Amino acid sequence: MSVLINPKSNELTMPLSPSLETSTANVYFRCFAGCEGKHSIYDVIYRCPTCDSLLEVYHEREPLRRQNAYKWQQLFDSRASTTNWPYGSGVWGMREWVIPDLQDENVVSMCEGNTNLFWANRLGQQLGLDDLWIKLCGNSHTGSFKDLGMTVLVSVVKQMMAMEHSPVKAVACASTGDTSAALAAYAAYAGIPAVIFLPAGKVSTAQLIQPVANGAHVLALETDFDGCMKIVQEVTEDQSIYLANSMNSLRIEGQKTVGIEICRQFDWEVPDWIIIPVGNLGNISALHKGFELMKDLGLIDRMPRLVAAQAAKADPFYQSYKNGFAEKTSVTAGETLANAIRIGDPVSYEKAVTAVKETNGIVEQATEQELAAACAKADLTGMFTCPHTGVALAVLEKLVKRGQIKSSERTVVISTAHGLKFTDFKVGYHDSTLEGVASACANPPTYLPATTAAVKEEIRKRLEV
Ligand SMILES: *Cc1c(COP(=O)(O)O)cnc(C)c1O
Ligand SMILES: [Zn+2]
Repeated sequence: MSVLINPKSNELTMPLSPSLETSTANVYFRCFAGCEGKHSIYDVIYRCPTCDSLLEVYHEREPLRRQNAYKWQQLFDSRASTTNWPYGSGVWGMREWVIPDLQDENVVSMCEGNTNLFWANRLGQQLGLDDLWIKLCGNSHTGSFKDLGMTVLVSVVKQMMAMEHSPVKAVACASTGDTSAALAAYAAYAGIPAVIFLPAGKVSTAQLIQPVANGAHVLALETDFDGCMKIVQEVTEDQSIYLANSMNSLRIEGQKTVGIEICRQFDWEVPDWIIIPVGNLGNISALHKGFELMKDLGLIDRMPRLVAAQAAKADPFYQSYKNGFAEKTSVTAGETLANAIRIGDPVSYEKAVTAVKETNGIVEQATEQELAAACAKADLTGMFTCPHTGVALAVLEKLVKRGQIKSSERTVVISTAHGLKFTDFKVGYHDSTLEGVASACANPPTYLPATTAAVKEEIRKRLEV
């Protein structure tokens, strides 16, 4: 258990609904680069008006410090999986740290978060690790961690639209497939129109059909993600369409809960390493932000080391890292099985640099062959990994081989999406038809006549019984 327990104060003082003490004025947008100025989170604003940097949602710490660290832990523990709506959501269970003044009726939640964190013992043994854990963020409403960010963004939009004279009429995003699935679902839940920009032919079948089924306006453009991103930014210059990409830092607020949730699941102990696949760099920024807030409020006393894992075909962040982060590198992202991280010009670059630097982190990359092999190996220990999780696992393998991650160190791999969204990839692997990938663990089905003799013969051959 935590060393922060104060035995004299084990009563909860925090009310279950937000108090006036934590009201709007204490949570606002500010410039990530440090310019003066506070902006309301209910204003349509995505960048600093002075220097054009990204914004961040800032929580004034004084009101949050009024409750001690142990009580925060107890409060969050007490809400995990409650049916007292909306606290059973992994995001809204931390409401005071997310958007404290959001009105109940505007919370757009489908009980996201609280995903399983499990000990991957057999895979760990194979890799030489005693304490390997997988955080399955894909076991969520739309099958990826994007739900965590979208519940916050769409809730704020709902509150904005309830205000008088709000210009907002719809939400929009560019997507490599998972952002659009999450936006379409949460917008449909709230009854808000959604416009989705996808790079034509570059998302999986499941990813394409999700927003279609949810009734979004799905526009497939003859370009890549970075091209879609450029167009959506132009379209959303008009304040009536609200931008839902992670450039909008409201998303980060929801996604930051994953780090807090991991600590809660470890009884408020901090893992030594967290490995996360990265593309636009919003999620690693969010992970860092959650840890920073916990540390500042005394819930934890150290930071985990964060490892950003990139696909070698789309590796601008890795290139910058190799260069000592001397400058931001952009590339034209090549074709990769890890389509959700096929991004050449990452929006949250500066935030992610801070995340890596402040946690003594590492950036590493994995080839198509390495990511596919890592997935196949993990699946043989009971998982059903998406290709992005494969990138993280392949990077993990490299760091263990190099001796950077030691066998006794507690290591968490963030699995960002559900493997069922990527059956095209799985089928291709086991059919041995993936370009540039040798399917060493291919396990295609065997077709047999429907006779007991044929079946017995096949089993005998395979199991030697
Ligand atoms: C969005 C996404 C990522 C990358 O997250 P960023 O915030 O863009 O770095 C990784 N994996 C999956 C499955 C995703 O959907
Ligand atoms: Zn600025």
